[in-house]
Amino acid sequence: PRTSDLDRPDVLTLDDVLATDPGRHRVLTGDRPTGALHVGHLFGTLQTRVALQRHGVDTVVVVADYQVVTDRDDVGDLPTAVRDVVLDQLAAGLDPVATTFFVHSAVPALHQLMLPFLSLVSVAELDRNPTVKAEQAASGRTSSGLLLTYPVHQAADVLSVGGTLVPVGRDQLPHLELTRTVARRFNRRYGRTFDEPSALLSDAPLVLGTDGTKMSKSRGNAIELRADADTTAAALRGARTDSEHVVTYEPDRRPEVANLVLLGALASGRTPQDVAAEIGAAGAGSLKRFVTDALVEHLAPLRARRAELARDPSVVDEVLARGAERAAALAGATLADVRRAMRQTT
Ligand code: ATP
Ligand code: MG
Repeated sequence: PRTSDLDRPDVLTLDDVLATDPGRHRVLTGDRPTGALHVGHLFGTLQTRVALQRHGVDTVVVVADYQVVTDRDDVGDLPTAVRDVVLDQLAAGLDPVATTFFVHSAVPALHQLMLPFLSLVSVAELDRNPTVKAEQAASGRTSSGLLLTYPVHQAADVLSVGGTLVPVGRDQLPHLELTRTVARRFNRRYGRTFDEPSALLSDAPLVLGTDGTKMSKSRGNAIELRADADTTAAALRGARTDSEHVVTYEPDRRPEVANLVLLGALASGRTPQDVAAEIGAAGAGSLKRFVTDALVEHLAPLRARRAELARDPSVVDEVLARGAERAAALAGATLADVRRAMRQTT
């Protein structure tokens, strides 16, 4: 146990981590295999994952196949969805050899941690989670037990492999807080076993989709990383703006326009203020064309790499097989530690 980690702040930026020995961390992060990844993922977490890895941070990525049914009846074409999520991340720059990618279903010990972890949280705490509430409302269904408890499952994801750093979008902060709570309560009750992990937020922690709500794979409002130039242009032409003509960057007052400005800025390596000042009176149509061109150019290498990687299906198969082995070893060791701490060994 590293006592210096006990008072680590719970939300960090990339600069914070790079300033203080990034190599001591292990990243755990992940995505649901519910569709191809989008620009919200790229600017929200994917670029941070890649940057951390380049600075020597051990990186573990879960493809959360057991979580697909939290808000739908059918897993759809799961093998294709798993492949898409892995390909998108390799195309974005994660190293196929150095990254541990695994699917939930390949690591049974991870799920066994759910049982003691569930005993550490109250139903009232689970009920209060604002992200779970929002996702339940967006799904238009009654809340299932799995939806209510999925933040605990995420705690198992992170803690099973000893994750200390979790690069996520803003929607995930309540879940990360719960992971910290689980770790803290377990340590207090059974003796120090877990580090409390920190969230890592990017400069774009909540990218909006074309309808002005959070860009999501499952809401039909996303610009997919793999999309071609025409599809990207069409999606952006239909993006929601407001009735004011002049383009400004005012995230609180004009969230939809500010979101487009930010996308254009991130894709072109400029500041949002600079982009807004340049477009200004030219209006929203010009802004959309600017964002389209900037994104198409920024994504071109990623799209080319993705097409290349997709040609050989064994690439993803091998990455997942190797990842499953390592994740199973890490989670198995954690489960053994947990059972020993709880005096459950027989
Ligand atoms: P789904 O609609 O199936 O829930 P999603 O688009 O929300 O898909 P997830 O797999 O749930 O994607 O999220 C993966 C990671 O990407 C999480 O860390 C999440 O916070 C981050 N993320 C997702 N959408 C955005 C977004 N619009 N802006 C910033 N980060 C995002
Ligand atoms: Mg989501």
